[in-house]
Amino acid sequence: MDLTKHAFFEGKIVPLSEAKISIATHGFLYGTAVFGGMRGYWNEEKKKLFVFRPYDHFHRLLNSGKMMAMSIPYDEEALTQLTVDLLRVDNWQQDVYLRPNIYKSDMGIGVRLHDLKDEFSMFVIGFDKYVKNDTNAHVTISSWRRIDDNVIPARGKVSGAYANSALIKTDANRAGFDEAIVLDNHGHVSEGSAMNIFMVRDGVLVTPPITDNILEGITRRSIIEIARNELGMEVVERSIDRTEVFIAEELFMTGTAAQVVAVTKVDHRPIGTGSMGNITAKLRSLFDDIVRAKNLKFSSWNVEV
Ligand code: PMP
Repeated sequence: MDLTKHAFFEGKIVPLSEAKISIATHGFLYGTAVFGGMRGYWNEEKKKLFVFRPYDHFHRLLNSGKMMAMSIPYDEEALTQLTVDLLRVDNWQQDVYLRPNIYKSDMGIGVRLHDLKDEFSMFVIGFDKYVKNDTNAHVTISSWRRIDDNVIPARGKVSGAYANSALIKTDANRAGFDEAIVLDNHGHVSEGSAMNIFMVRDGVLVTPPITDNILEGITRRSIIEIARNELGMEVVERSIDRTEVFIAEELFMTGTAAQVVAVTKVDHRPIGTGSMGNITAKLRSLFDDIVRAKNLKFSSWNVEV
């Protein structure tokens, strides 16, 4: 982490080395924080950086905050402008990842959400791939269950809930897998540790609905639109059973960090032919062009820095 880079902290842009909170901060003690994860993509031909769908990311962040009784004095437009300002300060000329955060900033003991101050922060890091084997991932079905929306809001990014994702990821990696598929308490496929999931069955693209305890992913939403409009595919949002993934023609996972990850094996069973399928490959390449602002049809998703 380069501490000379800048962050937004307590209302202003400061060097990352100065953006510090106390060990007595509520958000740290109880996980009472919500966060986002966005990417900025460097376009080498245009020599410009483009942030992917910041308005939508901030809309979800503010909604995550709403569910956790938080409010901050910025709307989606103000946060998008602040993102551009922050990226300009350090003149980033590479792919980056942005981590905005809203947290309960009071210090002291007492678990609750009300009568506490909320603070917004954001930092930037240089970023490349998140999943190493993103063209041939081998995933397992986790023995952990996805948090239920009646336990902690599942459709938003609540910091404390990521203990669940961390358990899932570590156990999968330590058992030799790249990632895990997580079932919800009804036994339906929800998503991965930090990515949504899609399968192709009988030529139809299928993904769990937002009522199956999934995070409402921005990449998920983008892929649904790209598959419908660019590939002319039928896309269905419905519950997915565990054994359906074994017999899917193709399987892939999506997320801001992960982008589009081809899953070619689940618990040692080959998916489809056992190598990345055509639809996954096409979506990966379309998605990469779109996020780098090389596909004008989707330019409303690219915010130039
Ligand atoms: N599910 C979870 C639990 C996640 O943390 C993420 C990453 N934000 C995703 C799905 C993918 O969401 P997005 O495409 O908005 O990054």
